[in-house]
Amino acid sequence: MQILVLGSAQDAGVPQIGCDCLICSSARKNPKQKLFGPSIAILDKEKQYCYLIDASPDIKDQLELIKDILPKVKTQEKIPITGIFLTHAHFGHISGLWMLGKECIDAQDITVFCSSKMSDFLVNNHPFSHMIKRRNLNLSKMKINHKYPIEDFWITSFQVPHRNEYADTVGYIIEQNKKLLYLPDLDYWTDDLIKLVESVDIALIDGTFYSKDELPGRSDVPHPPIKETMELLDPTKTEIYFTHFNHTNLILSKEGKERKELQEKGFKIAADGLKINI
Ligand SMILES: [Zn+2]
Ligand SMILES: [Zn+2]
Ligand SMILES: [Zn+2]
Repeated sequence: MQILVLGSAQDAGVPQIGCDCLICSSARKNPKQKLFGPSIAILDKEKQYCYLIDASPDIKDQLELIKDILPKVKTQEKIPITGIFLTHAHFGHISGLWMLGKECIDAQDITVFCSSKMSDFLVNNHPFSHMIKRRNLNLSKMKINHKYPIEDFWITSFQVPHRNEYADTVGYIIEQNKKLLYLPDLDYWTDDLIKLVESVDIALIDGTFYSKDELPGRSDVPHPPIKETMELLDPTKTEIYFTHFNHTNLILSKEGKERKELQEKGFKIAADGLKINI
């Protein structure tokens, strides 16, 4: 079974709308430098299944990446999605669901796995409420910290401290031959979360900002910067990839010293299209 990184950018993607910073301008000129919104796929070529974690605003381009690998994926629709697990209600993680509605592909019974609070949010808010009534989406509530068997793998959600204006936030551990943890958004590290990262083989974690100085005039950077996270985690215990990059993140500059320093410390940088076998 394989994990495919469908998008390694923060919710807004790279380039970001209306931004002409060096990274965004360069990505506009060179589409290979574009990064899609945050999402991964859990897929198996032989068994022809494909589950997404989160539905980003770039979902329609991201599905092209999957189609190349899984031409005959097991699905009742024209799209290669067997089901979708959601982390939280922020824009970049759920807005792609809209593409499954009546105005777009009008999908039938795509199972959406999420927490109970997230399920309440979707049931009570347009356009998701409408999509549930039309059975574009079929909700399946997951208990936090409960290990569920799906196809031939296991998946467990865990609670994450993050701005929870609408529902709650979870990360996921996917387990087959190896354990992989996916944690794209968090506000700060706790001892329990650090232990959890140390307990898995591979982790894809919040790397939104490189340092706190990245957003001029803002002291309330709402994610732990990579610089500080590197002090807390040990890349010899767990293979650690940073993901969910904001367009301002210095590691996106291929020539920058930050990218080199991170790699010298033993950490890795996720990228759109990255495949990890577990
Ligand atoms: Zn996010
Ligand atoms: Zn920019
Ligand atoms: Zn978020």
